[in-house]
Amino acid sequence: MIKISASIFLKRGREASVKRNHPWIFSGAIQSMEGKPEDGEWVEVKDFQHATLGFGHYQKGTITVRLLSFENKAPNLSIYSNKIGAAYEQRVLTRVVNEHTNCFRLVHGEGDGLPGLIVDVYNGVAVMQAHSLGMHNDRQTIAGAIQEKLNFVHSIYYKSHGTLGIKAENEYLLGMGVVPHVITEHNNKFYVDWEEGQKTGFFLDQRENRKLLGQMSRGVSVLNTFCYTGGFSVYALNAGASRVHSVDASEKAVELTKKNIELNGFDAGQHPCFDADTFDFIKDKKNQYDLIILDPPAFAKHKDARHQAMKGYQRLNAEAMKIIKPNGIIFTFSCSQVVDQQLFYDTIVSAAVQVGREIKVLQHLGQPADHPVSIYHPEGEYLKGLVLYVL
Ligand code: SAH
Repeated sequence: MIKISASIFLKRGREASVKRNHPWIFSGAIQSMEGKPEDGEWVEVKDFQHATLGFGHYQKGTITVRLLSFENKAPNLSIYSNKIGAAYEQRVLTRVVNEHTNCFRLVHGEGDGLPGLIVDVYNGVAVMQAHSLGMHNDRQTIAGAIQEKLNFVHSIYYKSHGTLGIKAENEYLLGMGVVPHVITEHNNKFYVDWEEGQKTGFFLDQRENRKLLGQMSRGVSVLNTFCYTGGFSVYALNAGASRVHSVDASEKAVELTKKNIELNGFDAGQHPCFDADTFDFIKDKKNQYDLIILDPPAFAKHKDARHQAMKGYQRLNAEAMKIIKPNGIIFTFSCSQVVDQQLFYDTIVSAAVQVGREIKVLQHLGQPADHPVSIYHPEGEYLKGLVLYVL
């Protein structure tokens, strides 16, 4: 059973978004509280007339409750295995997991009805990350649910150091994975190191965009900036690119890119990786590349940083538009949640205007089926990209 530690009553009118299944209760929506919940405990949320709206994790802050249930009866702990089972079924039905791919995002927070939880699966190893104290408290139950629903998972690594605002040790909750570990994504091979790597170890969200890039890479010279562990570089090489240069400001990432290039049977001497700042690297590289990938980290994590971030995207894209060969292709991305599609598009337009070359938009890109967005929680959409053709 789940212990419900308090009842939270909303102000009149503030129940509307909850009734539309939006999972966040903001502090400003709360009228009063019965009980004294600790951060991470389960609470019941009620409207101004005391009708139950749902149940979720309490945590003092702007988002005070993250709802996991919109029922009027308290859930039991099987809520985790039910939701994880449903999430896995969706990945199987949408063919994200198949004979060519053994890595996928199993749980994408709100998009899977589990706000505050991320789970990525890498060829038998699940890497779990909590972004709320409620998920942190329930981590053993969640690990049990993963084991129950995905019997091929032999190890579960819990990686929430630095994501919670409290001290949480990274540790194995099941088994003992050995890093780096080889995964297969659309038949491309990668080493993943969830212990030392960024986030959960690999950026699964670019899978379908990498596949598309592969389709445009045969015989061309490619520059993959912000390459991390070389995701786009490996796809380009396996698809027959004549030359691939990879750039990242992290030495560890560059090392793993080299290893990944070699893992796929290519010579990292012929396809060098540079430990450099993209903005510096790109300056004097005019007319050297047919295809350029721009996949920077989120330049804006908060709304206050948005203006500065837009300047960063504009400068970066303008540089690439200046140096790319005629008839070249740019894959450009933003993973800042606070920069929406329209704003990103407008920024790319202003970079194009600044550079003055003829440019066409070939495709709009987004996040794949294992990074679902609840239609009631549009905030879950973060990755957007454009394929540009530069004449
Ligand atoms: N495209 C990658 C993911 C990119 S994540 C993939 O498919 O896996 C963003 C990367 O940008 C990180 O590896 C980070 O180290 C790198 N980075 C951040 N600032 C940078 C800069 N100014 N120049 C080059 N790389 C940078």
